[in-house]
Amino acid sequence: EKSGASSSKSEDSLRSPICCIMGHVDTGKTKLLDCIRGTNVQEGEAGGITQQIGATYFPAENIRERTKELKADAKLKVPGLLVIDTPGHESFTNLRSRGSGLCDIAILVVDITHGLEPQTIESLNLLKMRNTEFVVALNKIDRLYGWKVCRNAPIVKAMKQQSKDVQFEFNTRLTQIVTQFKEQGINTELYYKNKEMGKDTFSIIPTSAISGEGIPDLLLLLVQWTQKTMVDRLTYSSEVQCTVLEVKAIEGHGTTIDVVLINGILHEGDQIIVCGMQDPIVTSIRALLTPHPMKELRIKGSYLHHKEIKAAQGIKINAQGLEHAIAGTSLYVVGPDDDVENVKEAAMEDMRSVMSRIDKS
Ligand code: GDP
Repeated sequence: EKSGASSSKSEDSLRSPICCIMGHVDTGKTKLLDCIRGTNVQEGEAGGITQQIGATYFPAENIRERTKELKADAKLKVPGLLVIDTPGHESFTNLRSRGSGLCDIAILVVDITHGLEPQTIESLNLLKMRNTEFVVALNKIDRLYGWKVCRNAPIVKAMKQQSKDVQFEFNTRLTQIVTQFKEQGINTELYYKNKEMGKDTFSIIPTSAISGEGIPDLLLLLVQWTQKTMVDRLTYSSEVQCTVLEVKAIEGHGTTIDVVLINGILHEGDQIIVCGMQDPIVTSIRALLTPHPMKELRIKGSYLHHKEIKAAQGIKINAQGLEHAIAGTSLYVVGPDDDVENVKEAAMEDMRSVMSRIDKS
């Protein structure tokens, strides 16, 4: 893929974008995650998932494979896509990284048979407030009466297979939903007609989380849109930006923390500081663990060890003294030129902001 030094440089200089899923209950958020991951959490196949890391990483090769029917000639410049596994508001509001949202882009899921619902509007308001980019997945298109399944097909191809009646019903519902968005002050358009995609007009991607139509389009749009418009945000920084999602005791690993590495690189042996109940915890990374990519995600208790990991990634960190670490705070790496006391101070500052958020809710 690499064609010379300059292109390989730009490929190396962008991190993976981070995406989260929002929307009203029962619109298919969990099912959509399952569909893109190739798992089945929604039907109770939780098994290994519950002890996973809270984010699924899709390497670029995987995205390329899933989207090849779209014949997208544009290159993927990001190494992959990191999708946060907890659907809903909480993942969006609680997962913050030093004041800004953790997600670079959101998928707002709307059920085509229901249109906008109360939590859709709540989600929209959060997105507006944070000024977060999003795309709309207009889900459950397979529920349109007479829908002919075209498993995992790009949406334009799938739409061409449908009868005039189905196409008519689709267009009617789409028009209604575009109007509902307009009433919320949001312009939307089908993504393949949205030439002016930008802050002014948000893209709609029709999907089925059951039969997979539109999923290739969704994946490709997320990656292409972020790499095109968020170059600054996605450029690697030497400073580590990392948020603690969860503190867990794991058999054979002691107490571990699950983190999302948003930017920068973590290494085995790095000296880190995380916020504790009483005091900052100063420790060093004993092991950097991730689940196996994609399909093997379900293998229980089996993790890959890494010497170093580049952002963005969901990671399980094993280190001494993590028992009292606090979820929702930032992890800091002590660099060779850093003063440990200053970094401790920064870590505890985070705790005060987490506490004030808890007080407010
Ligand atoms: P969530 O509450 O938004 O996470 O919704 P779920 O993923 O739990 O889905 C709610 C229900 O809708 C479940 O019964 C799913 O099987 C069903 N569902 C989700 N997506 C689709 C879809 O694209 N088509 C159809 N027919 N059903 C769907």
